[in-house]
Amino acid sequence: MANRSVNNVFAPAPPHFVGDGFRVHNFIPGFAPLSMKRMDPFIMLDYNSTFYFPPSPVPRGVDVHPHRGFETVTIAYKGSVAHNDSKGGSGVINEGDVQWMTAASGVLHKEYHEKEFSKKGGDFQMVQLWVNLLAKDKMSPPKYQAITASKMTHVPIKNGKGFIEVIAGAYHEHKGPAFTFTPVNLMNAKLKKGDKVDFSFPAHYNTALLVIEGEVTVNDTRNAATDHFVLFDNDADAFSIEAKEDAIVLIMSGEPLNEPIASHGPFVMNTREELQQAFVDFQNGAFGSLN
Ligand code: MN
Repeated sequence: MANRSVNNVFAPAPPHFVGDGFRVHNFIPGFAPLSMKRMDPFIMLDYNSTFYFPPSPVPRGVDVHPHRGFETVTIAYKGSVAHNDSKGGSGVINEGDVQWMTAASGVLHKEYHEKEFSKKGGDFQMVQLWVNLLAKDKMSPPKYQAITASKMTHVPIKNGKGFIEVIAGAYHEHKGPAFTFTPVNLMNAKLKKGDKVDFSFPAHYNTALLVIEGEVTVNDTRNAATDHFVLFDNDADAFSIEAKEDAIVLIMSGEPLNEPIASHGPFVMNTREELQQAFVDFQNGAFGSLN
């Protein structure tokens, strides 16, 4: 059977700062055709490529802001982030960990470099991915899933030295720990030079990968270097990745929700009226309070 075609390999866009703590390349929504609709249910992907932050007594980050209507997934590759939210939740996302926050009906939160990391300074590398929710789930209660590295499912690669680390969905029959509202596959391929690994997700699932470290060849033909993003067409299930050197690759594949998207900043709803309601609720304090 033929492989899923590579639509394109995207170099990272010039970085910009989110607050003073996240120096990100925006991939979704980004260069054509990487729109929210095309990447549905993945509606935003910001990538902080490896960047050295010098020591700072005051943690850098993003101050209090709201979210409604979707989930934010933070994947820490280097460095640590602390978060606090208006529902009393707080925690630290350390190197190797993932935080899966269901904002849904609404939270206020802030995201900062963890205190000790700030004091020492160091390399920082992180992904934030937004996963959209169906209309019926958008107003469900907010929650967190702290998915530490040890909770992820490790699947050794056949005839190789590396492994797949499943966060959500499944790699073949091996399921990851995250609860998702709709089918989402999210995993890291942690490969050693020469490892070749195959993936298979339903053709209609929107599918992409981001090279976190190293360089890989996709479907034996297309090279993708560090910090590059590969979009697949929806013409077949399977694809392969071969590591030209030790590599880490983030793989995402999700069933499209196929619902209307109305978005403005931190709110992603189905209609303009719902967006306006989100602003009204936010201003009326319905998201709680956070200092
Ligand atoms: Mn946020």
